[in-house]
Amino acid sequence: MDYFPIFVRIAGQPVVVIGGGEVAARKTLLLSRAGAEITLVAPALCPSLQERVARGELKYLAEAFRPEHLDGARLVVAATDVQAVNAWVSRSAEARNILVNVVDDRELSRFIMPAIVDRSPVIVAIGSSGDAPVLTRRLREKFEALLPAGLGKLARLSGELRSTVKQRVTDAEVRRRFWERFFDGDIAADVLAGREQAARASITQAIDSSLNQVDSTAAPVGEVALVGAGPGDPGLLTIRALRVMQNADVVVYDRLVSDEVMELVRRDAERIYVGKAAGQAYVSQEEINQLLVDLARQGKRVCRLKGGDPFVFGRGGEELEKLAEQGIRFEVVPGISAAIGCAAYAGIPLTHRQHAQVLTFATGHSKNEVAQAPVDWNLLSRPGQTAVFYMGLNGLPAILDQLRGHGLPAEQPAAVIEQGTRPGQRVITGTLATLAQQVAAAQVKSPALLIVGEVTRLHEQLRWFNTTAEQAHVDQIDMKAGLLE
Ligand code: SAH
Repeated sequence: MDYFPIFVRIAGQPVVVIGGGEVAARKTLLLSRAGAEITLVAPALCPSLQERVARGELKYLAEAFRPEHLDGARLVVAATDVQAVNAWVSRSAEARNILVNVVDDRELSRFIMPAIVDRSPVIVAIGSSGDAPVLTRRLREKFEALLPAGLGKLARLSGELRSTVKQRVTDAEVRRRFWERFFDGDIAADVLAGREQAARASITQAIDSSLNQVDSTAAPVGEVALVGAGPGDPGLLTIRALRVMQNADVVVYDRLVSDEVMELVRRDAERIYVGKAAGQAYVSQEEINQLLVDLARQGKRVCRLKGGDPFVFGRGGEELEKLAEQGIRFEVVPGISAAIGCAAYAGIPLTHRQHAQVLTFATGHSKNEVAQAPVDWNLLSRPGQTAVFYMGLNGLPAILDQLRGHGLPAEQPAAVIEQGTRPGQRVITGTLATLAQQVAAAQVKSPALLIVGEVTRLHEQLRWFNTTAEQAHVDQIDMKAGLLE
């Protein structure tokens, strides 16, 4: 972090602004809005400042700057058009340990002012440490559009109710839930829609009934959300997934959930890892099922976070069966499955009018299992389709052999995508004859996905993501493999 963000309660506090032009006028406007006690120091004033001084909004000293002007100030803003004066103000403020801002000069500034979205009391402040003002302005526009005009009213209302609610509900955890319901519920909707009167009319009753619900001495009922975390890039999470992650009391997650995604979990949520990892005891599926039940029974909101989509080779169904059996409430939030994410980020369209009318998702198996696996190899070896194999890395040579054995030609194109959608993504393209060797040479590690079909050829033309040095190395291996063919 280059800057430490804070909000300053400046109302009634002395702030000195040096400069009498339009820039100074703009800066004082915002400071006035926050109630600062402003003293303006400048030999002359522009008309708009003259007017405000005449109205008594600002104290004015018609003098050239002297360091003593700063004595006792909380903040100083230098807004003259003489660089030497600005620098002098900056030095003088620094010498007095007063925070100083020099307009448009971050070197001379101790603090800088963010772009803001004002829905007071809610204020969104956005900064780029001075690196990208246009970008921060864009972001500001987004927030302006995103945040309803009534947000401030809603926040004020919640401020008014806080002490009542605090008195009625002593348990902090229950209180948090009350507020979550409050902001999701009818009263909030009314306020945001501009129907504050209606909201206020029903408020006492609403608080009562809602407090009765969360207050009740009956054991709290937990719930489980089975959430797809996608293949790795956090940008591929759904809005719903993010919301559940932000509201969860506890998150139970797998090895395939990326660190970047875990970063987005509510900070004080408990995290329980149930993936396989070297040196750690393996948590069995039965144990995971039971864990979810136990956590929900404790009244927790459980986010069961799984890589990709929970219903695609994710055993999500098994976990829900157990929850349903035990009468525990649940919901399912779909995610971008590895096949969808990897194909998109590798520039491999899974279907294509010329190459593939059928798309199959299959699961690969460990080496020895491939031959006996209950997989319809005839089906997977038909031309005119794309077949995607999850968990196919260990059994790769055997899978490729089976496909050839069931009628696909040795030249049939195929690709392996390692770490799809993540910064380390590598795409290895070859044929049924070459791919196993290429993958071994590139030392591909899990997670990796196998795609078989004509569409994999399009990678060469449509690749767009992560065309890095790592990938260049793989391309070299690919070329050698091409010579092998
Ligand atoms: N439910 C998950 C799949 C779990 S099975 C989903 O819908 O994606 C685990 C397999 O998914 C891995 O062995 C690998 O084949 C594939 N996989 C998951 N994430 C991947 C990624 N980022 N890149 C490549 N393959 C991935």
